[in-house]
Amino acid sequence: MDKKEFRKQAHQMVDWMADYLETKDSFHVSPKINPGEIYHQIPEMAPEEGEDYDAIFKDFKDIILPGMTHWQHPSFFGYFPANNSEPSILAEMLTATLGAQCMSWITSPAATELEERVLEWMRDAKGICSTWKGVIQDTASTATLSAILAARERACSYSINENGYSGREKFRVYSSEHVHSSIDKALKISGIGQSNLVRIAVDKTYAMRPADLEKAIQEDIINGFTPLCVVSALGTTSSTAIDPIKRIGEICQMYNIWHHIDAAFAGTALFLPECQWMIEGHETADSYVFNPHKWMFTNFDCSVLYLKNPHFLVNTFSLTPEYLKSNMDAEVNNYRDWGIQLGRRFRALKLWFVLRSYGLIGIRAKLRHHLALAKTLIMEMEAHHDIEILAPVPLNTICFRYNPTSRYTLDELNYINEKWMNLVNQSGRVFFTHTKLEGKFAIRWVIGQTDVEDFHIKEAWNLLLHKLPDAKPYVKEK
Ligand SMILES: *Cc1c(COP(=O)(O)O)cnc(C)c1O
Repeated sequence: MDKKEFRKQAHQMVDWMADYLETKDSFHVSPKINPGEIYHQIPEMAPEEGEDYDAIFKDFKDIILPGMTHWQHPSFFGYFPANNSEPSILAEMLTATLGAQCMSWITSPAATELEERVLEWMRDAKGICSTWKGVIQDTASTATLSAILAARERACSYSINENGYSGREKFRVYSSEHVHSSIDKALKISGIGQSNLVRIAVDKTYAMRPADLEKAIQEDIINGFTPLCVVSALGTTSSTAIDPIKRIGEICQMYNIWHHIDAAFAGTALFLPECQWMIEGHETADSYVFNPHKWMFTNFDCSVLYLKNPHFLVNTFSLTPEYLKSNMDAEVNNYRDWGIQLGRRFRALKLWFVLRSYGLIGIRAKLRHHLALAKTLIMEMEAHHDIEILAPVPLNTICFRYNPTSRYTLDELNYINEKWMNLVNQSGRVFFTHTKLEGKFAIRWVIGQTDVEDFHIKEAWNLLLHKLPDAKPYVKEK
């Protein structure tokens, strides 16, 4: 493709992009596709001869698009969103065009320095300690793994980095029962071992019980373990339960344990003064992660890790082979030393575009709109005698089920609700996912899409009511 053709195609593509964004709620949220259906439409061999761009783009529309789940659809209520926005998309276009690899200051000074600045902006706007420093990672999984590795190296004075495990270390990491699977994964990768993740019981709001945490730590110490890290959840994935950060922090301080706060989704809420209570007491913690790529209108991937003492992280990761040395190293931040990967995308650009385009006022307005939509919906649900809300809703994730009073057993209810959710999803108009709370199948309704409006919620609610499982005595299908 020559530059002239690029210009022509790019203009047309922007029109396609704008059309897509304008009409995205007309698509089926999740496609009706069987496994292998897309794979078999793609030729077995790479083309020998270059093909026309028109042919490539036609296949994108004919083969790929029908196989996509439309994550930006306003009625995508599943998982947590990975929402984006127009300024973020524009920045991603620039990032792709510049094609810079931002591993060190010298490989693109602007990328490093913009990253420093926008992370300071967000830190201050979110009420995080003004002395903490941040770095952008690809995902919360990577950020949490990085924090756990730094905790490990702090605890062993960098000896595992140097010599590997001696075999005498018996580290323990603590989290609530509702911990995200990325913590399990981090323990597998870091050599701490998944079986050394201690899952602390939760209270009736699904938040960690600090008294149980302290008890587990004391027992572990008696049994010769080294309590290494507590991962508290500022918004669990199941129901956005908020662990008591302050109390957990006090315990961590008492036993000299690294405290990592996982705020992957809910951390965005801290832009709202009325949500600041969630982070009260975080000053004593060591690290904090949140994903602008979930609820902050910023394209996947973009996860921000803040640290009280970045030198533990940097000492864990830094290596400077001769070919990466520069005479600026003493004066600048080389973000390659702040994480696992060497090569880094220029992710700060999209954050800058989003923050400037919305402004903090615009971001807060969007978040409040989502929270208000959730409040209204909760009132509707509470007014319906067969709908049960299964967990407190501190933000915009509602866990609910159909439960006509005491007619069904737990298994029957689980079966009915799963069937109900699948039926509604099959309509293609909405998309829900589920979790289990105390064994109960709970449909999760997350209201965090950039363009979600009142009528999307109403439509989905009516659809759910319309497809309510039959109230007749229940017979399980074979
Ligand atoms: C989504 C989520 C993660 C994982 O996020 P990735 O960026 O996909 O790795 C971790 N913790 C919590 C609480 C989450 O909700």
